[in-house]
Amino acid sequence: MPVEVYIDDIFVGYVDDPKIFVERFKEIRRKGIIPKFVNIYYDEETKSVKIYTHKGRILRPLIVVKDGKPLLTEEHIEKLKKGELKWSDLEEMGIIEWVDPAEEENLYVALSPEELTPEHTHMEISSIVIFGVLTSLVPFSNHNQSARLNRGMRTQKQAHAVYSLNFWSRFDSDISIMYYPQEPLVRTFSHEIFKKEDVIGQNVIVAVLTQEGYEMEDAIILNKASIDRGLFRSVYFRPYEIEELKYPGGLQDEITIPEPDVAQYKGREKYKHLEDDGIIYLEAEVKDGDVLVGKVSPPRFIGVTSETFTTGLIKKDTSLTVRSEEKGIVDSIIITEGGDGNKLIKIRLRDLRIPELGDKFSVRHGQKGVVGMIVEESDMPWTTSGLKPDVIFSPFGIPSRKTVGYILEALGGKVGALVGKIIDGTPWFGEKEWDLRRELLRLGFREDGTETMYNPFTGDEFKVKIFVGSIYYLRLKYMAANKLHARARGPVTLLTRQPTEGKAKEGGLRLGEMENEVLAAHGASLLLRERFSSDDTIIHVCEVCGAMAVEDNIRNRIYCPICGETDKIAKIKTSYAFSLFLKELISLGIWPKLKVKYKFED
Ligand SMILES: [Zn+2]
Repeated sequence: MPVEVYIDDIFVGYVDDPKIFVERFKEIRRKGIIPKFVNIYYDEETKSVKIYTHKGRILRPLIVVKDGKPLLTEEHIEKLKKGELKWSDLEEMGIIEWVDPAEEENLYVALSPEELTPEHTHMEISSIVIFGVLTSLVPFSNHNQSARLNRGMRTQKQAHAVYSLNFWSRFDSDISIMYYPQEPLVRTFSHEIFKKEDVIGQNVIVAVLTQEGYEMEDAIILNKASIDRGLFRSVYFRPYEIEELKYPGGLQDEITIPEPDVAQYKGREKYKHLEDDGIIYLEAEVKDGDVLVGKVSPPRFIGVTSETFTTGLIKKDTSLTVRSEEKGIVDSIIITEGGDGNKLIKIRLRDLRIPELGDKFSVRHGQKGVVGMIVEESDMPWTTSGLKPDVIFSPFGIPSRKTVGYILEALGGKVGALVGKIIDGTPWFGEKEWDLRRELLRLGFREDGTETMYNPFTGDEFKVKIFVGSIYYLRLKYMAANKLHARARGPVTLLTRQPTEGKAKEGGLRLGEMENEVLAAHGASLLLRERFSSDDTIIHVCEVCGAMAVEDNIRNRIYCPICGETDKIAKIKTSYAFSLFLKELISLGIWPKLKVKYKFED
């Protein structure tokens, strides 16, 4: 039965035997008669042959396999090494070909020469190419579970590092720069390619043991002396900007120190850092609410309130202030012109971030956790050589996660640190576990990486040997200082009259169902009532028909809109969200009735 043929999804004709057609097509392409970036694919489901030539397809090179043997031989590899052969020669000889995702559907690709069978059509150039850029940077990743690799890959994107060498002159938001980033001791082949991009952490000494329980649930214990020496220290940048706007009618904003008679004046204290031009000076130490740039705006004529009628048309303070619960030092100020020719001022705050409780750390294997405790050096366990670890990590974090790569990296890092060499952790091709063990033994250590350690509180030797190694740790961008938030009273949303949500909006802290039950179980009924009455309101209900009564403030009377009752009206305290719900029902044409009863009646 003839099969349809499409070129770039446009029907061009029929072929009788699609499999032979595709085979012939590929042969001709390998000879160079058809361009190498044209791909062909036989779709068995729709019974059609599809040829793709257009741009935007992702192509990758594969080694062609015939009768279970790769066309690339040792001879070719020797010639490549000597420079007698080039990549383009291999393409011309039909040894390597480019396939797109569609053509891949018809192929059977082997990862390595060992697993080749006569059914295979292609072989990967290297098994490492099954990883993406970031995953290939994880050492010994072929020993890890794939889900962990995914996580480890993502944590690398969140690490504090030097993201760009010109960061001093950039105004990017939410940026952390690490003070002393190091290159990893245990690296993969990809590190040589991405060198500058792969400097995202520090090599630390890790002891895998439990200590007082502060490392539970993946938390880590940090050595305070290490932090004092600058371990994981970083700086946080936050940009601010303000524009001097022009309004219709010749009115415009003015950047200046606001006078006390403007509306929404913040108090003299808040403007103390401003210079005569209304802009803060460099290196000023500021905290939340402090004014960075003073600005007054003309009164707005649209939507004038009764307030402006009584006080006259006064100017409004619209100064730029430091965000709530943030602090910093003025690091850089730029005065320039915005897109509309308005005066534009950009200010960058810098804040030193020393590791503290709750900051998030991770290794490249997806083992992430927060700082559970920072311990004085005198309270850290030590080895026979007097070494005290920088980080204590819980052994319970390893068996369930099956990150064998973590242990191998620690072992490799230990050898690397002792010998003073870089350890190759390239998946499949890196240093072998047994070589690392032998090297450790040669250096006078136990081959499995464990050491005798002493309890800092009693001086006793631990009954078990403790695994100690060097691992590349990353400090992630999630810091406790950015998450801290509390509120007593604050803004509410207009529609529901309930507290706003989120730290940026000075929002309330959610007390959910489970917290509710905790309070109920403790019998803390008054606290519970207070917590859930943030939007309390009083509504009037007709006792005769149960409808919500109307409050007429102009004629000063309350009446039922359904039956006209004016006497038997009950005042009920309820949440505003509930009365809003009733009003929404009414707007749908539904008549919600409330049956009211006196509290102390039977
Ligand atoms: Zn009524």
